[in-house]
Amino acid sequence: MSVIEATPTPYRPKRTGEPLLRLEGVKKHFPITRGKQIGAVHAVDGVDLEVHPGETLGLVGETGCGKSTLARVAMRLFEPSDGKIWFNGQDITRVKGDELRALRRDMQMVFQDPYASLNPRKTVGSIIGAPLRLHQTVPKSKIKPEVQELMRLVGLNPEHYNRYPHEFSGGQRQRIGVARAIALKPKLIVCDEPVSALDVSIQAQILNLLSDLQSELNLTYLFIAHDLSVVKHVSDRVAVMYLGKIAEMAEKETLYDSPKHPYTGALLSAVPIADPNIAKKKKQIILEGDVPSPIDPPSGCRFHPRCYRAQERCSVEEPELRVMDSGQLAACHFPLETRIIDAPTVTDPGSSTRSTPSPSSCWSCRRSS
Ligand code: SF4
Repeated sequence: MSVIEATPTPYRPKRTGEPLLRLEGVKKHFPITRGKQIGAVHAVDGVDLEVHPGETLGLVGETGCGKSTLARVAMRLFEPSDGKIWFNGQDITRVKGDELRALRRDMQMVFQDPYASLNPRKTVGSIIGAPLRLHQTVPKSKIKPEVQELMRLVGLNPEHYNRYPHEFSGGQRQRIGVARAIALKPKLIVCDEPVSALDVSIQAQILNLLSDLQSELNLTYLFIAHDLSVVKHVSDRVAVMYLGKIAEMAEKETLYDSPKHPYTGALLSAVPIADPNIAKKKKQIILEGDVPSPIDPPSGCRFHPRCYRAQERCSVEEPELRVMDSGQLAACHFPLETRIIDAPTVTDPGSSTRSTPSPSSCWSCRRSS
C-alpha cells in the first residue's frame, strides 16, 4: 500500500440521468495464428459497465486481468470483438473516420508511464499543444498562450514551455501527460495506472491534481489501478475484474466494508496495514495456484481453481453478475455473507486518522513534483 497523504475527496453530486459511457457485453479476443487461427486470448470476455457524468469508476484487478484492454476498447483504440459501446447516448461501437476523430476530443487518456508516453524529441509546448493543432480547436497564434495556461493549471511553470521531457521529474512528466489529456476539454478521461510508476511521495500530488481538475472541469474518470488504497481514495464506485470479467462492482464504502466476491475478499485481505496492532488481527487469505490462462479459461466460474469457497456447482455453472442483498453486484454462487476481515483493510490516503503534516512542516506539499 502506498504511504501517501492526499486531501479528502471532495463532495460529488449523486449520479443522475444517462450514463456517459456504457458497455454492454463487450468482448475483446486477440487471435493466435500459426498460418491459420489456432486459438484466441480472451482478454475481455463479456463486460457490462456504466460510468456516469462527474463520477470516478475505479477498476481494479491483478496484472493481465484485462483492465487496460477494456479501457482501450472503451476508448475505441481497440476494435471490440463483440458487444456494444455507448458514449454520451450515441452508439460508438463501429464509428470510423471523421466521426471517430470527433469522438477523440471527448475521450482522452492518461498513461501509466510518464517516461514512455512523452516524445523525448519534442518540447513540452509541442507535446501539450499537439491535440490543439491536430483538432484545430484553437487558432495557431493562440496555441502558445493556451498551452501555457494549461501548464499553469496542472502546476507547471509556463516558462518551461521550451524544455524537453528529460528535464522534468517523473511527477512533472505526469503533469505534462495530464495537461495534454485536458487540452481539448474532454468529458471522459481514462487514467490507466497514472500513479503506479511514481514515487509514493509524488502520488498524492497527482491524485489531488486529478481530483481538483475533476471538480473544476466537470470531468468523468475511469480510473485503473492495482493499489487498493489509491482506488478507494479517488473512486465513487469500484469494479473488480478477474480474467476478463467483472467479478464485483459496488459503491466504494460497500465494497471495502463488505466484499461479497471471494476474490475481492482475498484482494482486500492482502493489503498491508501500517499499524502492527491492527495488522496482527487481520486474516490474510492466500490464493492457491496460478492465474488460469486467458487463452483457455476454465469452465464454470473462472475463479474456481483458486477459490477457497468453491463447490461442485462452481466448476460447471458460470455465475451471473447479480444484485446482492447489500446492493452491490457480484458474480458468485456462494458469496461471502459476513466480513471475513476483522481489521480495517485499507488505509484511505485521505483519512483524518492519518497524521497529516502541517503545511509548514512538510516541504514536499509546498512544491510541485
Ligand atoms: Fe468461488 Fe464458486 Fe463464488 Fe466462483 S462461484 S467465486 S468458485 S464460490
